Amino acid sequence: MTSVFVGGQTYLNYMNGEWRPGATGQTVPSMNPARKSEVVGYVQSSSLEDLNQAVASAKAAQLGWRKLPGSVRGDYLFKAANALERRIDEIAETMTREMGKTLPEAKGETTRGIAILRYYAGEGMRKIGDVIPSTDSEALMFTTRVPLGVVGVISPWNFPVAIPIWKMAPALIYGNAVVLKPAQETAVTAAKVVECLAEAGFPAGVLNLVTGSGSVIGQGLAEHPDVNGITFTGSNQVGKRVGQAALARGAKYQLEMGGKNPIIIAADADLDLAVDATISGGIRSTGQKCTATSRVIVHRDVYEPFKEKLLNKLKGITVGHGLDAGTWLGPCANENQLQTVQSYIQKGIEEGAELLFGGAAPDHPDLAEGFYIQPTVFDKVTPEMAIAREEIFGPVLALIQVESMEEAIEVANDSDYGLSASIYTQNISHILAFIQDMDAGLVRINAETAGVELQAPFGGMKQSSSHSREQGQAAIEFFTSIKTVFLKA
Ligand code: NAD
Repeated sequence: MTSVFVGGQTYLNYMNGEWRPGATGQTVPSMNPARKSEVVGYVQSSSLEDLNQAVASAKAAQLGWRKLPGSVRGDYLFKAANALERRIDEIAETMTREMGKTLPEAKGETTRGIAILRYYAGEGMRKIGDVIPSTDSEALMFTTRVPLGVVGVISPWNFPVAIPIWKMAPALIYGNAVVLKPAQETAVTAAKVVECLAEAGFPAGVLNLVTGSGSVIGQGLAEHPDVNGITFTGSNQVGKRVGQAALARGAKYQLEMGGKNPIIIAADADLDLAVDATISGGIRSTGQKCTATSRVIVHRDVYEPFKEKLLNKLKGITVGHGLDAGTWLGPCANENQLQTVQSYIQKGIEEGAELLFGGAAPDHPDLAEGFYIQPTVFDKVTPEMAIAREEIFGPVLALIQVESMEEAIEVANDSDYGLSASIYTQNISHILAFIQDMDAGLVRINAETAGVELQAPFGGMKQSSSHSREQGQAAIEFFTSIKTVFLKA
């Protein structure tokens, strides 16, 4: 592979149309999880002073930005998409180096980011209101939508291009100014995305980037009196704090959090397809997707053959550096994540589940310098075990045997989370029951749990979400307020 990446550079904050160092002058290195000694770049360790400046520039710029026609705002998004497309190879390589995802996946994610920008550029031309018949025959009553004002975006490290873009693009098209606080682990990738967006020439202050710790900059954004909306994606624990901080001062908030997503394998399932979907949904991206499959609920009639096919297929998975051609599975994105996965593997063993496959680092000297873990499968898992209840965010599958479809759906619903769920069957009664009874924001039939299309609403039920929806036209609900107009001559 020809590298298009230059490592070890320093990346600045972006505010009021300028790149600026943080007020403390301190930077932190962003490291490659596949080669612990490689510094991908240095990012600002910002303070509240930086955040205040970014919010102030966003607040001032928003007044002019909201007055522009949606089609004009859309033109900026089209230009941003083109800028990102020109740098796709560099952005994808940066992502792979910074969080370990394989290069084809990183490229796919960047392509998705480009498509999202183009999709929302078009949204600038769509209707934003309805006429409602008034009881007064001399009046015209209608709704229109107005932007929130300044929107704070707090994003995780697992989709460092797509998630910030799927929040910033709708925020911007509907007339909000944005302050982005990306996960510090992938802040170099985020800075490059903002460089591309900045190339589109947005008016100064409309788009801002402040890198720094979650507890200072993330929390500061959630608490800031001039931030009118907060859109957060990340863990359940942090999401709740962000929601409470926003609620306490009457700001609008949107939280997209964890999952413990089930796949149900019915007795009549095509087992080869079901195995492919289980592995792709659960192991790809090292299981670090909010929609990753983690509970595999299998009918007893096909439990043994399914297990056998699953193990055979797992043996063919190549673990390695995401930049190497042929690698299917990269490392965990950081040391914390690896330790979390290892502790759940230990917990599974202690709770009495049977470790069927994996469970340890791959035994290869080339991989000793990275945060690697083999794909891991537990057998004889029962629904009350921690590995069946808590989000692991790693390539770990918990196999649960059930006697019937009713029991399968009951077990699948026995979770604090409700993000995504899938079923493999051709039986129409099973399919109908699954669609109607499964408590998840995304239900997928004969498809893996991990699959999101940018033009459709996305979000979870229960503790997976604050119950608003992202993406597609649903995004307008969060990023605008409805104003009802009563007009009389
Ligand atoms: P995280 O909660 O640790 O961090 C998310 C963001 O919040 C980061 O930018 C972080 O710096 C910031 N943050 C940390 N502490 C904060 C605080 N006190 N106040 C404000 N912000 C703070 O999550 P992560 O480890 O980056 O990402 C993994 C999690 O994200 C998983 O739980 C996964 O399920 C979830 N996720 C959900 C979705 C979804 O759409 N539902 C998508 C991707 C990831």
